[in-house]
Amino acid sequence: MSDPSWRDVAVATKGFMPVHEGDALHAAALTAGARLPGLPWLEVGSYCGRSTIWLGAAARDRDTVLFAVDHHRGSEENQVGWEHHDPTVVDARVGRMDTLPFFRAAVHDAGVEDNVVGVVGRSPVVARHWSTPLAFLFIDGGHGTEPARLDYEGWTPHVAMGGTLAVHDVFPDPADGGRPPYEQIFVPALESGRFRLESATGSLRILRRVD
Ligand code: SAH
Ligand code: MG
Repeated sequence: MSDPSWRDVAVATKGFMPVHEGDALHAAALTAGARLPGLPWLEVGSYCGRSTIWLGAAARDRDTVLFAVDHHRGSEENQVGWEHHDPTVVDARVGRMDTLPFFRAAVHDAGVEDNVVGVVGRSPVVARHWSTPLAFLFIDGGHGTEPARLDYEGWTPHVAMGGTLAVHDVFPDPADGGRPPYEQIFVPALESGRFRLESATGSLRILRRVD
């Protein structure tokens, strides 16, 4: 690793990306950036910026930018009383989650601010107004059926030919985890004929746009 400091920040950042999957995400993004230089990348679901750093460091190496889309209010599964809730990311003033300050600090501390553009808003709203082809798309947003379906519909058409689609939390066996990223994103992408599977690391799937 030529510059371990950004990776140390990623590993220390709150979030849900296992280290070996973050490294695989980073490698896939570097490949995508070499295949399609000049096109931007986009992440749906940044939370506190953990996965964002692996992608942002790759974006810096490939001289491109990562748009990081999140409303920063947390997914259903991050709310009070749910399995993935962290009380330290609640804004007491508004009584709701706010991961934006954590995201901003993480991106700063990793030294990737120039290559990461935070987009604060609801994913389907941003997607509706998006028109730039993407070399790399990473979907790790809401894991309910409807949010996952909307991310598939709203974002995958923007992956450029030859570009990469990365999907997190893909669990073919329901015993391993929630199904929507598998049923609403991964399977439809393959069945559409537009994407081919390139690799799998843990629950991360890397697909390439072929049609
Ligand atoms: N990639 C992160 C984890 C993302 S958790 C990591 O590496 O740790 C999922 C994130 O998706 C949450 O931060 C939540 O706020 C965001 N999210 C869920 N539904 C969303 C929507 N409809 N629009 C924008 N962001 C959404
Ligand atoms: Mg995830």
